[in-house]
Parts: sequence; C-alpha cells; structure tokens
Amino acid sequence: VIPAIDETHNSELRSWVDSANTPTTDFPVQNLALGLFRVMNGRARPGVAIGDQILDLTAVVDLKLLDGAEARLVEACASDGALNPLLAAGPEQMRSLRSALSLLLRDDSAQGRTAREHTATLLVPTVDAELLVPVRIGDYSDFYTSIHHASNVGRMFRPDNALLPNYKWVPIGYHGRASSIIPSGEGVHRPSGQTRDDSRALPVFGPSRRLDYELEVGVIIGRGNALGAPIPIASADTHIAGLCLVNDWSARDIQTWEYQPLGPFLAKSFATTISPWLVTLDALAPFRVPLATRGPDDPAPLAYLDDASDRSHGGFAIELSVWLTSAPMREAKRAPFLVSTGRYESSVYWTPAQLVAHHTSNGCNLRPGDLLATGTVSGPTPESRGCLLERTWRGSEPLTLPTGETRRFLEDGDEVSMRGRCERPGFRPIGFGECRGIVSG
Ligand code: CA
Repeated sequence: VIPAIDETHNSELRSWVDSANTPTTDFPVQNLALGLFRVMNGRARPGVAIGDQILDLTAVVDLKLLDGAEARLVEACASDGALNPLLAAGPEQMRSLRSALSLLLRDDSAQGRTAREHTATLLVPTVDAELLVPVRIGDYSDFYTSIHHASNVGRMFRPDNALLPNYKWVPIGYHGRASSIIPSGEGVHRPSGQTRDDSRALPVFGPSRRLDYELEVGVIIGRGNALGAPIPIASADTHIAGLCLVNDWSARDIQTWEYQPLGPFLAKSFATTISPWLVTLDALAPFRVPLATRGPDDPAPLAYLDDASDRSHGGFAIELSVWLTSAPMREAKRAPFLVSTGRYESSVYWTPAQLVAHHTSNGCNLRPGDLLATGTVSGPTPESRGCLLERTWRGSEPLTLPTGETRRFLEDGDEVSMRGRCERPGFRPIGFGECRGIVSG
C-alpha cells in the first residue's frame, strides 16, 4: 500500500492555535497526533496534540463540531478510557477523523472559525494535563530489528560470531510484558534481581548495578486479525495505526545471568515507558522511505516478508535522539546532555510491515492496541548507538557529563528523555513528543 498524501499534509496549512505554527513544534496542524489525557485526576479523555495545547475531543463532540461516525468513535473512546475503539474501526475511519480534525484546527476553514470561538472550552494547555498511555495494550512484543545493535551486542559477547546466521532471514523477537508499560514522565524504580557478575562467585540478589535504557520505536496495531488468519505483507500497513517512541528499560546484569536459554525475562519486565502521542500512519505518509540497511549481498526476504511497496516505502525517515539529565545537572539547571542521535531508516533491517507479517505468519492474532517495538535502534556510528551498553561499550568507554560526572550505566536521579522528529523538503516537520522517565533507587 503506497501511503496517500492529501490536503491534510499541505505544508501551507496554519492553525488558529498559534503555538502550532512555530517551526520547532512537534505538533503542527499537519500532525494531529492522538492521545489520552486527564486534568486533576478526572476521567481519561481522548485528545489531539496541537502546538502546546490539547484539543479535547469530548468537548468537540459536546459542541457538535464533529458528527456522524467520527463523533460516535470519540464517544466510544471516551467511555472506553482508551483509543482502542478508534484503532479497531480501521484505517478508513482513522483517515476520515483526521480529515475532520484538520478542518477543525485550520485557520482558513468555516469549521476552524467556529471552533476558534470556543477556544476556552476546547483547548487544555498540555502542561496542565496528565498524559496517559493512549491505548490499552493487551500484548507487547519486542523485536531486534537494528542490524547495528545486533552486530554490536554480538561483538561484545561473541567476537567470532557477531551476527547469528538467522538474523537476515527471521525478524527476531520475544514476547514482552504489557502490564508494566507506563506513560512518559512516570518514575522508574531500579529493579532488584539475581545476578552473577563473577563466574567464580555465587549468584547474589540485590538492586541492579547496570541499569540501561533502550531507544526504540513502537508500532501500535490498529485493526486486528482473526486467530489462524495471517496478515499478508501487502496489507500489513492497513493494520498499523501509527508509531510512538519506546524506552525498554533494561537491567544488563540481571539480563546477562538469566537470558539463556529462553531469552529476556525479569531484566526487561519491570518498566517500559512509551511516549504519550500516537503519531498516525496517515500523518507519517510524507516520511515513508526505503530502508538503507540491505546490501546487494544480503539474501532476498522470503516471499511472505517481501513486497514491492514495502521495499520502496516500508521505512520511516525519523531522526531519533536520547538526552540525559543527572540530579546534579538538574540542580544546577543545566541543559540535558545529548547522549546519542541517529536515524531510524538507516538503522533497522526489518520494516514494521515485515514485523506484522512475520508475527502473524503462524496464525497468531494481533489485537487493536497491541504494541510491537523495534528493539534498540542503533545506527552505524558510535554517536548513534541507542543504549548505554553500546554507547559506553559495556562501561569501558564512560561518558562525561557537563558536570564532570561520568556514566557507564544509569544512576539514581538520572532522567532519560527520547525524541523523534520527521523532516522532508516540501513538508511540515512533525515529531513524537517526549518519552521520558527518571530513575529512583
Ligand atoms: Ca528491547
């Protein structure tokens, strides 16, 4: 499916919400990212990010500024307390809601002029809202799609055999834990667990001493599939609602001791932070690109993972960055330290459509709101490595922060913030907002 670019992507569009017209915002009127928020512990409400404000969709429906199927979907999401009913409705419904929201937030439409008269009712400043996990995530699967990450980690642990022989054939993944997925801003407790750093000593139980983050992109599933009915790769995009950012917090010392033979378990399941806004596949249409990681000598994907439009448009042009602020930096009011910056499309070997096709190829059913994460997105250069394990090469090359502190792994009080931004000439840049968490002991 070739993504469709329409009037909602027109770079000339401006919003009557002034902050949406600033060049640096992640949320111009061309984005229309969807989320869930509440104010002062009230009910969870569906909303749209617009500049530094949230358009309250329940208020939009109450004022009858949306009607028909779109209004009923908003009401269903409001009573459900999650965006799942919209995701389940499918890509056509999501696209018609996007068109209606674009008209409502533009400054040159009749709908926009009417909405503007109700600014005080319709808008909530984002700083005054609590942003929630936007969808009810039934299942979470985490992949290993960055070939640079897989090669780096392989080199650390298996110098002679960095990339395992299945890597270029199978999108490797494991089943993660959905219950511990938390919204951006919620604190992360340092996990305790069993470790054995010294193979001559006995294992011990205690707080992790090698706590790490993992920069990942999340794929939120829209319409699901029936058990036993695989999703063909050619229609995989119609089952993807959109993307978000994911921090798959990881305890490396627990992981090293527990992961053989069945893979990650308690080293990963204590917390996973996601960014609060679902950036829809429609919003991302202008930023579809081929992946840059497959070489001429690489094997062609097996037929169930191969599709012409996925080859030409399966990737997303996203610049990703990770920022760290230590407690002393925060006290000294220093700016966050840029730990890494890289690009999604030049890091990963498998596209989101390939992940969907592979995940369902055995008949496994995906459901609306399921989360598939890419795995750590590391690029080819040291500056683009998406976790501290790689960035400091297992702690052997510590980072120096502006305060003179050094980091091998995360310390208590460290705040990790991830950002993602899409730019392409001729189009308005859009972003994902923040995926942030502070570590406490
Ligand atoms: Ca991961």
